[in-house]
Amino acid sequence: MPKIKLLAPGVASRIAAGEVVERPSSLLKELLENSLDAGASRIDVEVKGAGKELLRLRDDGCGMEKDDLALSLERHATSKITKLEDLGRLRTFGFRGEALYAIAAVSKLSITSAVRGAKSGWTLSATAGKTKEPSPAPAVPGTTVEVKELFFNTPARLKFLKSDAFEKGRLVAALEEAALANPETRFTYKSEGRQHLSFEPESGALETNLLSRAKTVLGKELAENLLTVTADRPGFKLTLFISPSNNLSATRAFQYWFVNRRPVEARILQQALYRGYGDHRPKDRHPVCVGHLELSPDAFDVNVHPGKREIRFIKDRDVFELVSGLVASALAKAKTPIPLTPAPKQESQVQEPVAAYYLGGRSFFPEEPAFALQSRPAEALTKTDGSPAWFTPPYRYLGQIERSWLVFEANGGVFILDQHAAAERILYEEFLKQLDKGRPQTQTLMLPMQLELPASAVQKVLSRSKVLDELGFSVEPFGKTGLNVLSVPSLFHEHDELKEMIHGLLESIEDERGAVQDARKHAVATIACKAAVKAHDALGEREALQLVEDLKDCDDGSCCPHGRRAMLALGREELARRFQRPGAPPL
Ligand code: ADP
Ligand code: MG
Repeated sequence: MPKIKLLAPGVASRIAAGEVVERPSSLLKELLENSLDAGASRIDVEVKGAGKELLRLRDDGCGMEKDDLALSLERHATSKITKLEDLGRLRTFGFRGEALYAIAAVSKLSITSAVRGAKSGWTLSATAGKTKEPSPAPAVPGTTVEVKELFFNTPARLKFLKSDAFEKGRLVAALEEAALANPETRFTYKSEGRQHLSFEPESGALETNLLSRAKTVLGKELAENLLTVTADRPGFKLTLFISPSNNLSATRAFQYWFVNRRPVEARILQQALYRGYGDHRPKDRHPVCVGHLELSPDAFDVNVHPGKREIRFIKDRDVFELVSGLVASALAKAKTPIPLTPAPKQESQVQEPVAAYYLGGRSFFPEEPAFALQSRPAEALTKTDGSPAWFTPPYRYLGQIERSWLVFEANGGVFILDQHAAAERILYEEFLKQLDKGRPQTQTLMLPMQLELPASAVQKVLSRSKVLDELGFSVEPFGKTGLNVLSVPSLFHEHDELKEMIHGLLESIEDERGAVQDARKHAVATIACKAAVKAHDALGEREALQLVEDLKDCDDGSCCPHGRRAMLALGREELARRFQRPGAPPL
């Protein structure tokens, strides 16, 4: 590696500034990047105390000479760029020359390094940014960085960290990202003294390597059947693995993008992915996606944010069109059936066409206002006896439309239920009632249900096991990348979409920012949604009538827990008015 130099002030000041060491995982990300930049083929990570007590990273990369080592902790000291224009040719992850400086400032740090063939290695240590003279060390080629007592001198930042379980999950997630993008590198991860993960190096062609690494990281269950999408054009190379449309997940937690092996968050890529799926995806199902783009370094800008996670494409429209087009054609080629319409159960052989509005309008973009729990259409108004205004017995079941809507005649008018939204609302309220009384009734599964997930997702679920337990789910780890679901709320035990329900939970417990109460509500709504009768289920008259009876007893039967309308009433007067009958009451 070239010599480390200090960036000229004019260059340093134009580099996106800000804090890079927010939490143990951001630190791990920086250190992994340094090792990868140093050409390491093997990286061993060890953490203790969720990374706060100890974070050690050993690589077999190029190492540093004594004077480089001495410079490495300086601010804006980097061997990777010297002038701003170099960013347009950047082939390394690092360029700010700040990570080691920033880490050293808030910890007790030591770096031991030796270049290949050197007679001696060197160790440099620093406490809260105060550096000692390098001292000789064994000449083991490569670099070991050891960070102890992170944030010991900045108690406010220590307090800002979340639970150990949460931080551990983030640490593993940082490792998984590096592993996904660098399949030729061997990674091991030890946590609290136990070997936790190990990713063996892949040695085939790049595409094969990327796919087999994805399988090891994500687990077979998520990664099996992934479709491969590739494109190789001047300045643009894509290797993308995505779920076939009949094997989508209830969470969008398993979507990864890398540009030149750098994990990035680029909304435009996600949007392109969803656009590509178009009608191949119901609103509440999400693809697994591992996307690797190789672009010329001047085709995008990483100097947007200090974390270097956000990037901007110079021609973002082109990237969007290319990616969405490739995804769409791969799905069309795969010819997997569109999953919205389950095979008709008995009668008709005719497959109904599925239009986008069936389930309340699907959109290309995942960020929809998902939880409008407070919205109350007018029908929520209640009558004096406590029953909702639309409920005007006696009523008669007229039938089902499109296997989605149930039509009833009542008191000279009609009302229509959205069967899925109604069932969801009923389950939701029933379950909330049970929860208000304490832990809901649970049912132990005869055989634990096994789920294979990335290790970080397992950690995430375990970190929220208290909430899950409150909800009536008991889970335990099974190996490093598996979860056993031992019991579930009785209300849902028969449901055959249990797996999806857990994926859905993963999605709703993701956000730790929400108050516990909120998280609970979201989780409950998710469970109810997964367990409810789906649109496109054929319902008999008895079930339809039961749905009305149950819905009328709900506190708010007018909409589903996500705020989508569950029922629509056209009263007698409304009908008369709409048909312009003489004497119809005006609006
Ligand atoms: P940057 O990566 O932005 O250059 P850092 O503060 O992360 O800044 O690292 C400073 C310099 O230290 C790097 O430019 C590199 O030369 C050297 N360095 C850091 N980590 C390693 C490593 N694991 N192996 C070899 N050199 C390293
Ligand atoms: Mg760096």
